Amino acid sequence: MATEKENTDSQNLFRLLPSVDEFLKLPQVVKFAETRSHSSLVNAVRVVLDKWRQGISEGKIHSVDTDALVDDLRKLLHELDLRSLRRVVNGTGIIVHTNLGRSLLPSSLEQQLKEVAFHYNTLEYDVEEGERGSRYVHVEGLLRELLGVEGALVVNNNAAAVLLALNTLAKGKEVIVSRGELIEIGGSFRIPDVMTQSGAILKEVGTTNRTRVEDYTGAIGENTGLLFKAHTSNYRIIGFTQEVDVGTLARIGKSHNVPTMMDLGSGVMVDLALQGIDHEPTVQEVVNAGVDIVTFSGDKLLGGPQAGIIVGKKAFIDAMKKNPLTRALRVDKLCLTMLEGTLRIYRDGNPMEMIPTLHMMAMPMEQLEERANRLNDMLSTIKDVNCCVVQVNSAPGGGSLPGQQLPSFGVSVEVGSMSEVELERRLRQRDIPIISRIVENKVILDVRTLLDEDFQVIFDALQDIVSCV
Ligand SMILES: *Cc1c(COP(=O)(O)O)cnc(C)c1O
Repeated sequence: MATEKENTDSQNLFRLLPSVDEFLKLPQVVKFAETRSHSSLVNAVRVVLDKWRQGISEGKIHSVDTDALVDDLRKLLHELDLRSLRRVVNGTGIIVHTNLGRSLLPSSLEQQLKEVAFHYNTLEYDVEEGERGSRYVHVEGLLRELLGVEGALVVNNNAAAVLLALNTLAKGKEVIVSRGELIEIGGSFRIPDVMTQSGAILKEVGTTNRTRVEDYTGAIGENTGLLFKAHTSNYRIIGFTQEVDVGTLARIGKSHNVPTMMDLGSGVMVDLALQGIDHEPTVQEVVNAGVDIVTFSGDKLLGGPQAGIIVGKKAFIDAMKKNPLTRALRVDKLCLTMLEGTLRIYRDGNPMEMIPTLHMMAMPMEQLEERANRLNDMLSTIKDVNCCVVQVNSAPGGGSLPGQQLPSFGVSVEVGSMSEVELERRLRQRDIPIISRIVENKVILDVRTLLDEDFQVIFDALQDIVSCV
């Protein structure tokens, strides 16, 4: 080790840094080599040495200490070892959180997922005939049965479903849409842009707040390909408003011999009003209203995997199946097996219990309070953690039920004199990130979106954070 005096000289400091080879030969570093490739270790060592060289030249490092170097390397390797796509704890209370993976799949499907993922399977194989089959049969029958539709097709997501439907039914033709429904869903999905991409020609009618039957009928002409309605998933127009409901639109289409379509967005298949939540039009209702094509997401309030589900008239569905775009938008076996499993729960099981998204939506207040008390009791045993149960509002999220707030319970957490911003950051930067919300200068964990197994993760994290301050 260098003396204090020598260490003040940056030229000396550079010389005291080990070479890459010397660094790699340190016994602690040799140990790291057991669980990773040589090249990844060499790269990490270079990154650490570069960081130290930069620190020395900027005058921020005043001594070279092997233990500190090894420690830096250990931290960097740990970060590199963490998978990029990994589990988080969702304490936000937003159930269908698009950034956190939307719907959790039903745990009853675990075995089915493993079987299909780790074995060959019947994806496109007809075992009766011993010949090539179609990947779409696994869910088409279930969708027909559940929704009473003639045909169904599943693609990558609802954005793809809308694109495919427009491209198949209305390429080069006019699509009539109310100005009140030219929606944008999270930046990358805007009806006018999707319309352009599909080759259809957007024909806006009505005004932002009011659209009438005559607006549609007056716009129908020789080149009309489709009457289109979109669910205004993430906003609401209130006040002096008027819209043409989907049933009326379907009748207009029939009397003018023009196909009709509704982009329903979330695609809920149970009546949420029975759970004390605002009524959200169900897929069945929209289908029964007589519209020719309905599209919706698999991973919003349906509670399944990411998918875009298209249901409706057989002739139109068949035309979509033949569209070359379908091949580019097709879903994989993991999606299909999870969608089949989810739909089977709707047919044979108890969706409100077995589908996490619905279960979280309908969780009773007493249960939320009991869970908040339980978490609070756990956390309050940690010295220096100050917590209490608070009333909060959760949200369905995922562009569904705009404005709907779900009263819930959470735990408000403070650690010593640490600021709420710092605590939020430390929770978020854990190996299993804990995502919280800051409400009125307090870090809040809403128990509605926490799983029981998350409680221990939160406990361990706070214990760790307390011991580091
Ligand atoms: C969410 C949503 C979409 C996009 O669905 P993805 O499955 O995210 O592609 C399209 N339209 C509406 C009305 C939506 O709510």
